[in-house]
Amino acid sequence: MFGVTRPDSINLGLGQPDFDTPQHVKEAAKNAIEEGFCSYTPNKGYPALLDAISDYYRRYDLTASQENIIVTAGGSEGLHLAFEVLINPGDQVIVPDPGFVAYSALTHLAGGIPVSARLKPENDFLLLSEDVADLITNKTKALVLNSPSNPTGSVQPRDEIKALVELAQDYNFYLISDEVYDRILYEGEHVSPASIDQERVIVINAVSKTYAMTGWRLGYTIASRSVADEMLKVHQYIQACASSISQKAAFAALTGPQDFVNSMVSEFKHRRNLVLKRLKGVAECVSPKGAFYVFPNIAGYGESRDVAMKLAKNGIIIVAGQAFGQYGEGYIRISYAADREKINRAFDIIERVLKL
Ligand code: PMP
Repeated sequence: MFGVTRPDSINLGLGQPDFDTPQHVKEAAKNAIEEGFCSYTPNKGYPALLDAISDYYRRYDLTASQENIIVTAGGSEGLHLAFEVLINPGDQVIVPDPGFVAYSALTHLAGGIPVSARLKPENDFLLLSEDVADLITNKTKALVLNSPSNPTGSVQPRDEIKALVELAQDYNFYLISDEVYDRILYEGEHVSPASIDQERVIVINAVSKTYAMTGWRLGYTIASRSVADEMLKVHQYIQACASSISQKAAFAALTGPQDFVNSMVSEFKHRRNLVLKRLKGVAECVSPKGAFYVFPNIAGYGESRDVAMKLAKNGIIIVAGQAFGQYGEGYIRISYAADREKINRAFDIIERVLKL
């Protein structure tokens, strides 16, 4: 893909906000350096940050104490810890398909077997308990939930989350809940399944998307005491602790003014509406309620890889849907982490190229 792209290409393939980290967060990091906060922190994170994470999750009716939380090197490390601890060789993990690429890769790394749960456009790409129920076997160890979702932008309603938690309770498996887009939400509410069952749910989150801090590598997990204790052992040996400076920055992000998040999300909402408007008459698309992606159906124009390649040759970078699993074929993911002018320019080209 990169081989065929032109230097003046418009990149609608990015999985990160096109905003800069808020200034007060940068200042907190600079102060941390100046004050010499440059050594190891406790393995699980420095205590004031653990408390700030606990306070943050109160908004979702979750009461977590320091012993439930681990500060990690991004949401990515948090996911890795969860899979390493829960999955034994031969265990099955039900993963959303289309879904974020790491879930099936991490299942394989832990020796497990990913089982695709097809997200259907007629169900707004929601992970429905009736579909998951058909996939459960006596080897099912965990189910991955990602709401708001990458790549579809769908947001799981409360009753569907409750139904998935009930399945986990009835069939004795864990729920890994990837909530990194919790605040990038335009409609509906964010519901953490951990507020329904804290024993069975491992929450993965990060400051990466919410505060435009992907490069700071700072995330966290919330789990039951027994799971968190095991995850901490893995964390201790693969990471020791998350960056001390990024931890201070994350503390400032979580506890400081939230106007940055509100204005970023309001801009994303304008862009989502613009993208949906521009897609009318070009490709069918489920209206996303969160994250910063749309996942239109381009099956009428060819295979998703070919469409992606054709667009790349014409200066537009998007991601082929099959990158997100077998059921992503026939779709492309368009990220609107690019300004409105670029989006408009890109769609002028997309319309022309697709209709050629
Ligand atoms: N989960 C999802 C659904 C994501 O989209 C991403 C980033 N693309 C991550 C986790 C990883 O986040 P982080 O950068 O904090 O490791």
